[in-house]
Amino acid sequence: MQHQKLKQLGGVLLLSAAMSLSAQAQEKKANVVVIGTGGTIAGAGASSVNTAAYQSAVVPVDKIIAAVPEVSKIANVRGEQIFQIGSESFNDERLLKLGKRVSELLKQNDVDGIVITHGTDTIEETAYFLNLTLKSDKPVVVVGSMRPGTALGADGALNLYDAVLVAASKDAAGKGTLVVMNDEIHSGRDVTKTNSFKVETFRSPYGPLGYVVEGKLMFYRLPARPHTTQTEFDIDKINSLPRVDVVYNYGNVSRAAYDAFVTAGAKAIIHDGTGNGSVAEQIVPVLQEVRSKGVQVVRATRTGSGVVIRNGEQPDDKFDWVVTDDQNAQKARILTALALTKTNDSKELQKILWKY
Ligand code: GLU
Repeated sequence: MQHQKLKQLGGVLLLSAAMSLSAQAQEKKANVVVIGTGGTIAGAGASSVNTAAYQSAVVPVDKIIAAVPEVSKIANVRGEQIFQIGSESFNDERLLKLGKRVSELLKQNDVDGIVITHGTDTIEETAYFLNLTLKSDKPVVVVGSMRPGTALGADGALNLYDAVLVAASKDAAGKGTLVVMNDEIHSGRDVTKTNSFKVETFRSPYGPLGYVVEGKLMFYRLPARPHTTQTEFDIDKINSLPRVDVVYNYGNVSRAAYDAFVTAGAKAIIHDGTGNGSVAEQIVPVLQEVRSKGVQVVRATRTGSGVVIRNGEQPDDKFDWVVTDDQNAQKARILTALALTKTNDSKELQKILWKY
């Protein structure tokens, strides 16, 4: 009898010790909010061999999380659906709405990190925007996938697992907005999509910041340019963005697109030029005219990498034009729009384009 009572007591003690241990583990786990916006990571195909032909933005974020039960071992995860769209349909309004919601969540003591599931088409624009405007050191990770969850070799589950790992890690704090895809951690500033269908599509011209492998984060370098808390742009204070458009250049380019964008009310035009932001002879007077109407002219390069040299291909001082640093046209659009919320002085704009 005595023996049985002791055994029972031992059982109760063991059980309560186990419970308090699991409560401790629970306490130690980071709280991560996964915000769903759509994209292929929320996509579904008609069959398992549809790796590139499928419908994107159909699976709700809670279902995406539930499909990767492993994430609950590394963090307390909850989902929040903000949009259900292909990322090509992101616009300034949606960008601001997303940024403001992320900012609100980051201020909560019970949120340690954020993951945003996103279409891969414009991940680089959203990540750069958040990298420039969020005012927090907590990790924010944008993640997508190239194949829908229904496909053979689907990449979304591992990408999401890795993204939650990064968002839950103190090692990722203070490194700006990150993009995690295909085992790599990229800076939102640098990363760009380079291939239309392959899983290894994301590249940064200077390489990723690190890897995620076997549940471990391995960082090898840090972002050199100011981001998040170090910038003059605050998402909480921006309620609209000035219109900035991009004109892609090619042989036989005409003035039609420049004229249309000026008429539509553009405050700046990114001239996505050939080579070093070159300007065709028939476009030189057009850009002078654009500038004379008070619209900023920003020379970028369509080559995919490299810097545009001020007063190189064109006399920017003379024409009062500015040049991008190494930002591609779509990133230059984001930075120029943000810069124009602060200044319309071309010299100040040039400083901002060189700074971030
Ligand atoms: N075009 C869609 C998007 O960007 C699907 C592409 C993807 O997510 O990989 O949302």
